[in-house]
Amino acid sequence: MDKTVINMTKKKRIALIAHDNRKLDLLEWAKYNREMLAEHELFGTGTTGSLIENELQLPITKFRSGPLGGDLQTGAKIAEGEIDFLIFFWDPLEPMPHDPDVKALLRIAVVYNIPVACNRASADFIISSPLMSSDYSRELIDYKERITKVEGKHIYIK
Ligand code: PGA
Repeated sequence: MDKTVINMTKKKRIALIAHDNRKLDLLEWAKYNREMLAEHELFGTGTTGSLIENELQLPITKFRSGPLGGDLQTGAKIAEGEIDFLIFFWDPLEPMPHDPDVKALLRIAVVYNIPVACNRASADFIISSPLMSSDYSRELIDYKERITKVEGKHIYIK
C-alpha cells in the first residue's frame, strides 16, 4: 500500500493561535522561545498574529481573526500541506461563537498528522524535540481506504 508522506524540513511552518484568555500565556511562551521561533516560518490568526509580531518583531503571515474565519483558513493551509504544526492555546472554560471552527481545525490537524500543542507544557515538549531542527517525514493515514462509493454516494466504513 502506498503511503502519502509529507516532508517537513528543518524550517517548520508553525501556526500560532490563542483565545483571548490564553493570549498572555502564548505571548509569554513565544517571548521565551523567540530565538527558536525566529528559525521557522510563522503564521497566526489576526489578533494573535499581530500581538506576537509586535512583541517578537518577527514576520508572521496573518489570517483573519479566529471568529471571522481565521481558524478555518489555518485548517485549509494544513490540508494543503502548507503548515507543519499548530500551537493552539484554546480556552477550556469559555464557550465561543466559533466553536465549530475550533473543532474543525483540531480535527483537520489530526487528519493530516501534524503535531498540535494546546497548552504550554505540550508546546515546551514539542519545541524542545530534536525533530524541530531536523527533517521529518510525516505519514498520512490513507482514509480513502475507508471511503467507498455505493450508488454514487460516499459511504464511510468504520
Ligand atoms: P484571534 O483568533 O487570534 O484573531 O483572536 C483566535 C481565535 O479566536 O481562534
